[in-house]
Amino acid sequence: MIAENLTNVKNNIKEACLKAGRDVSEVTLVAVSKMKPIEDILEAYDAGIRFFGENYVQELAEKMEELPDDIKWHMIGHLQRNKVKYIVGRVDMIHSVDSRRLALEISERSLKLGKVTDILAQVNMAGEESKFGLRPDEATDFAIAVSEMKGIRLRGLMTSAPFVEDAEKNRNIFRSMKDLSVDIMKKNIDNVLMDTLSMGMTADYKVAIEEGATLVRVGTAVFGERNYGGLR
Ligand SMILES: *Cc1c(COP(=O)(O)O)cnc(C)c1O
Repeated sequence: MIAENLTNVKNNIKEACLKAGRDVSEVTLVAVSKMKPIEDILEAYDAGIRFFGENYVQELAEKMEELPDDIKWHMIGHLQRNKVKYIVGRVDMIHSVDSRRLALEISERSLKLGKVTDILAQVNMAGEESKFGLRPDEATDFAIAVSEMKGIRLRGLMTSAPFVEDAEKNRNIFRSMKDLSVDIMKKNIDNVLMDTLSMGMTADYKVAIEEGATLVRVGTAVFGERNYGGLR
């Protein structure tokens, strides 16, 4: 079932790339495995997936212990500063950095381990009350501020677009994200790469790819519906 889902998702990614004139190698699928059991993750792993996204620190830490070392874990959920120590040095990328204080904590913890952690700046492009993230007009100053922090490297931007039935409704949001990332890239800020754009989920990853996503975070289309009943 999961292998079949993955075949579908990968085909959709290829189609979206073709439509947009992009090479399929530009887009990485991050399989979002939050609230899914180890067996499901192993099924995706056996089908060749190596990038997995998780939202909750404790769940992520537990899964990292049990699963193969060559998995690249992406922290995509809201992160509190006091939990940074549990994941730094062990995750491939943190997508959800939305304040200088959080960035500084990640930097300092990384330096203690002699590492540099790749991060993305989370942007609340649609201005939704319920969502975390910087305002779009704060993103450039944020990039400048974190460029001074030696233990992190800002690789780009991340957004969670509104939930919509019709993915086309999010196209402008994705386009604005791409524009914002190009604007910041053009400033040539030291230590800021802007080669990564994390956007697009099950409902809208095809449109996100057409608009320039390099990482898509897909959960439901890979693993099936989540059961929120047991949410910690
Ligand atoms: C849960 C989650 C996803 C995956 O959502 P699906 O709709 O299941 O694909 C992607 N990004 C973030 C930040 C999430 O929390």
